[in-house]
Amino acid sequence: MSTPPLRLFFAIPCCPQLAHDIAEWRKQNPVDGKPVAPENLHLTLAFLGSQPRGQVEPLAAIAASLTPTAFILRLDRLARWKNGLLHLAPSQVPASLMELERGLREQLLAAGFPLETRHFKPHLTLARHCPKLPPSAPPAFDWPASEFALYASENTARGTRYHTLAQWPLRPQAPA
Ligand code: ATP
Ligand code: MG
Repeated sequence: MSTPPLRLFFAIPCCPQLAHDIAEWRKQNPVDGKPVAPENLHLTLAFLGSQPRGQVEPLAAIAASLTPTAFILRLDRLARWKNGLLHLAPSQVPASLMELERGLREQLLAAGFPLETRHFKPHLTLARHCPKLPPSAPPAFDWPASEFALYASENTARGTRYHTLAQWPLRPQAPA
């Protein structure tokens, strides 16, 4: 019997402290729609969709070949896209984040993985199916990104679960 495919994506996980802080802020600024569970908060780097399990190894090899640098991402914007996706975003995107996303995308495309062609807009999803932008004060979260990971997303009776298949550190930046 063949094993079912996995729904895969690369992302930067939100550390537990920041996830807690964001969840607390969200409680003070209630939003309509389907909130993302605190343990699922993340920033997607590349979405691969349904893939055979055998692709996990080559994907991990691609990730391991990158040499990304750590950065601090300041989430200072609350925004909503037309599709109802309410998110936090940075007004200044660190060069290291763009380099990581570009490096990953280039290698994934070279290896034949289909990726969407839309421009990368780094964001952390707070809720989906949100009917309007809540009138809350602008947030200011400093996110010290120190790793990225390959996830398998699973739909369960208790909601969407992400399984970490492998993760890789972002190298601390050399002092100036
Ligand atoms: P659910 O869809 O079950 O409500 P989810 O969106 O968190 O939860 P997935 O649909 O598996 O779970 O998506 C995992 C990640 O990949 C999320 O960050 C999601 O926004 C992103 N993603 C999903 N589909 C696409 C797509 N077609 N293009 C780009 N990113 C996507
Ligand atoms: Mg989804």
